Parts: sequence; structure tokens; C-alpha cells
Amino acid sequence: MTLLYHSPDFLAHDTGRHPERAERLVQVVRHLERTRLVERCHCPRWKPLGEAEMAGSHDADYLAELQAFVRRGGGRIEQDTVVSDASFDVAALAAGAVCDAVDRLLAGDTERTALCLARPPGHHALRDGAMGFCLLNHIALGARRATDQHELDRVLIVDWDVHHGNGTQDAFWEDGRVGFLSIHRWPFYPGSGADDETGGGAGQGTTLNLPIEFGTSRREYLDCFTTRLHDFADRIRPQLVLLSAGFDSHRDDPIGSLGLETEDFIPLTEAVLAVADQFAEGRLVSLLEGGYNPGVLAGCIEQHLTTLLDHDS
Ligand SMILES: [Zn+2]
Repeated sequence: MTLLYHSPDFLAHDTGRHPERAERLVQVVRHLERTRLVERCHCPRWKPLGEAEMAGSHDADYLAELQAFVRRGGGRIEQDTVVSDASFDVAALAAGAVCDAVDRLLAGDTERTALCLARPPGHHALRDGAMGFCLLNHIALGARRATDQHELDRVLIVDWDVHHGNGTQDAFWEDGRVGFLSIHRWPFYPGSGADDETGGGAGQGTTLNLPIEFGTSRREYLDCFTTRLHDFADRIRPQLVLLSAGFDSHRDDPIGSLGLETEDFIPLTEAVLAVADQFAEGRLVSLLEGGYNPGVLAGCIEQHLTTLLDHDS
């Protein structure tokens, strides 16, 4: 079985007429129920992440500012990012989901894979600020749970969202315990993610960026991802794999559109599972990041989750 984290509480982050809106998850969950995938999963209950632990990846000043902003009713906190009065609690629930999944997989429960259908996304969130629809960096907080509480010294974060995961890269730039691989459209928002960005200090060489130009064929994209991921994982030898799974590289995504088709998320998922199997006893936590065509997103997640379930059964 696969752990599936979903909750109607994620819909309370009200962004109005914004591409990152509740409708995304409404359509995804409805589709997974209709295709009877939800009943093949174990859906745990979990707690939102506490503020003390958020401070592992975010400055206390930023967390206080974010809370004060949502208490005043929300609005546009950054040029691309809109929040409502519930948004802090919703982000805490998203980060809590990733951390709960990390705990369960590392406890050696029967499940080896998890999918967190959370919002808002998190991989652009900075230590000291919201950015690009993101408030808290959930995947970074999940990696910190693994290194700081479970004392892992080798974690791999894979990020296939169409945008570079700049917040995650920053979080572990000098941290040799957490490897970060991002494949993304480039040049593109947020501007970072060139192939000469490889980490610094103790983290030198533990960041790998795979910038992909618009117009690259699906075959080239898949070959690049699969080959480079395998080689990178062979160096990192992760005990746990975390995945920032954005689906905005789909050809019909209104924001990202890198030309991928729905079925391409099957081999992408298989490549990450292969690395998890080889090094991490199959342990993989996947977290939804981008994907802004709700109908297309639902189809992509169906393929992703089916691949996880078929692998884990
Ligand atoms: Zn994205």
C-alpha cells in the first residue's frame, strides 16, 4: 500500500482567481475517488507541523510576519503569492504531512511509499520569505525531520517540477547530508538552476541542476532525467528519497508547458522508485508541488499514484 495524505482542510487556503487554487485538489481527489485509487491507499490522520520545527528552515521573523499577515485577513504577500486567513494553518498541515510520512516510512511500517496531495506548493519558499505561490518549504522541512530527528546522514530530494526548486536548493546548499537534484525548464522562473550551481562548503557537489531548454524532446528529457538521477544517487547513496512532484511540465499546463504528456509521469516515477529501491529500501515520499490545469493534473497524478501502488503491491 501507499500512504495517501489528503484533506478537505487544504481547500481553506483561499487564493481567489489565482492559478494555484483549491479547484486543483478538488478535481484531483474526485478523480482518484472515481478511479478507485483512493481505496487502494492507506490514508492516515496527521498533525500540522509545530512552529518550533518550522524554525529549522525558516527565520522566526518571517514566521511571525506571515502569521500576522494572515491574521489581518491575508491578501498579496509577495508579487505572485496570495494568502487568506487560513493559509498559515494550511501550510503547517502540508509540512506536517511530509514529516508524518517520513516518520512512518522510517518506522518500518508496511508502507514504503507516500504521496502528499497538499497545497500550497513549497519549493520556492525561502528561509525569510514567501515566493512563487509558496509559504513554507514542506519538502525541506521533511528532509530536516529525517536528518535532525531520525539522524539520517544521506537524504536525496528530487525535484521534477517545471520550475527550479530554488528554496530547497538554498536550504541545503552547504548541507552535505541532503542531496538535491532539480530538472526544470531554463531559462525560466525563478531564474536560478544553471548547471554550474552545485552547492558550497560541506555541500559542494551535492546539488545537481539539469536545465532543460524549451523545445527539448520528451525522449531527451526522460533520458537525461533517468541517467543523471541514477549517477547522482549512486554518489549520494540516500537512505530516504523525497520528491517534489510538480506536474506543470505537461504540454497543456498554462504556466509551465515543457511538452511532457500525461503518460511520461510513469517512467519518471519508475526512475525515482528505482533509485529508492537500490539505496533506500524503497522509501519514497512524494509531495505535490505545481500543476495548474486541474483536469490534466488529475490525470498525471493518477499515473503517478498508480505507478507507486503497482510497485508497492
Ligand atoms: Zn512549478
